[in-house]
Amino acid sequence: MQCCTRGIDTYRERGQLVQGNMFGYDLVKAIERQNNTYKINPVDGAAVQLIFDMYVNKGRGTDLIATHLNVNKILTFDRKSQWSASKVRRVLMNEKYMGYILYGKYEIVDTNTKKKIATHIEPKRTKYADDGVTVIEEGNLVRGNWEPLIDEETWWKAQEIRKARSNELANTKKGNMRSGVRVSSDSYANKAYCECGYRLSPQYTHAATETEPAQFRYTCRQQINAHTANYRKMHGLPPLANTCTLKSVTDVKMRLMSIKVFQYLFRDIKDTLEDTIKIIEQAERLNTEKGSSVITLESLNETLEKLQRRLERYIDMRADGEISDEQYRSKKESTEEEIQSTIRLIQEKKVELSKQERYKLDINKIRERLEMYVDLSGFGVSNEMIDFFVERIIHRSNEEYVWEMNLSGLPNVPDKYKIRGYSKEYSDSLKDDKNFNIVKTFVISLDECREFCKNVAHRVYKPVYWQQITVKIAIK
Ligand SMILES: [Zn+2]
Repeated sequence: MQCCTRGIDTYRERGQLVQGNMFGYDLVKAIERQNNTYKINPVDGAAVQLIFDMYVNKGRGTDLIATHLNVNKILTFDRKSQWSASKVRRVLMNEKYMGYILYGKYEIVDTNTKKKIATHIEPKRTKYADDGVTVIEEGNLVRGNWEPLIDEETWWKAQEIRKARSNELANTKKGNMRSGVRVSSDSYANKAYCECGYRLSPQYTHAATETEPAQFRYTCRQQINAHTANYRKMHGLPPLANTCTLKSVTDVKMRLMSIKVFQYLFRDIKDTLEDTIKIIEQAERLNTEKGSSVITLESLNETLEKLQRRLERYIDMRADGEISDEQYRSKKESTEEEIQSTIRLIQEKKVELSKQERYKLDINKIRERLEMYVDLSGFGVSNEMIDFFVERIIHRSNEEYVWEMNLSGLPNVPDKYKIRGYSKEYSDSLKDDKNFNIVKTFVISLDECREFCKNVAHRVYKPVYWQQITVKIAIK
């Protein structure tokens, strides 16, 4: 099951070319494909250097550069077409011009046609300490074996400029939308997280054939970013303190779980809906009781009225000469303070109450949603169903998974759970059942796994990849 990925790893470790021709170079073919390299093409190479020079040193935009190239009859890669802003941009983004390769830029999405899409991985530069040797932050580029056309400083400078410009553009044209963010077309991947907090990324393990669709596994992003322990050793990188070691999840496993979870929600849960809702509501109540005080909104309003009446009374008392001006001022001051703090409490209480209101579950709506037709006889539930009902899937150690469901009918915010870096607190929170409204726990036996593998997925059942699965269904 791992042969193809191991292939990519080997490419990566050798710094070997994966792709063919490239503008600016001539491909030099060797007897062994792995020894292929690039030789600078003097004419095209000069065009590449001109593009970078105009962009980085002269501050020209991609449109202007394209016009300049066309006016000066500088040929494109295919020798026929005109330069465009996007062609110029593609040159500026190609890390091979500074002699590096970024692996994983494309992934196969359609299992039948082997269609590839860009993964939009961002190149990351290795950061060194002041000594210039110690690595502070590891990049994701691998050195190639050909002569660079552009020096590293210039290339990275171009990326900085490009990012700054595209952010500007995104902010003016589309409000706060970030440009270039694409969501994978595999909904399972969009919802799956490792207990360390990172996403699970789909990795292609077997090519599609005429009769068989491609095979995938979902691997912890932290592990992919950090490379293998072996790779780090080979490249003299220090071992990482927080590298996650959870094994990848095969697509078969993911889809088997989806069937079982939806079976529970759409078949079993319907009969016991009221009971389930009660359990959820109880959990909600426990949560709100923990945080809220016993003071009610009514009692706070009463207090406020009392204070206001007292303030009026002080005014009368001063007018009647019962208290001195000085006494009045001090009484007025302290009462006004109390009024202010009561108003604050009332506002806080209102926020708290509106939150509770929002969390109240609408039994009828949930029932309506569960009446939807779901096909549970195939190889996993559809992407649409995952999109619509799953908040996130968390992979924990010992083959335990939390399927957090979203029955609210409100769409998920993309990248809501995306993290910027490892945090122990966050990871611990994902491992703790207390942070989820778990309504059902069940196991999937090895017999069921074997059955599903053979009869539904039509894959060879390899015992080494299987272990009894524990699934916890939680309601968001
Ligand atoms: Zn992980």
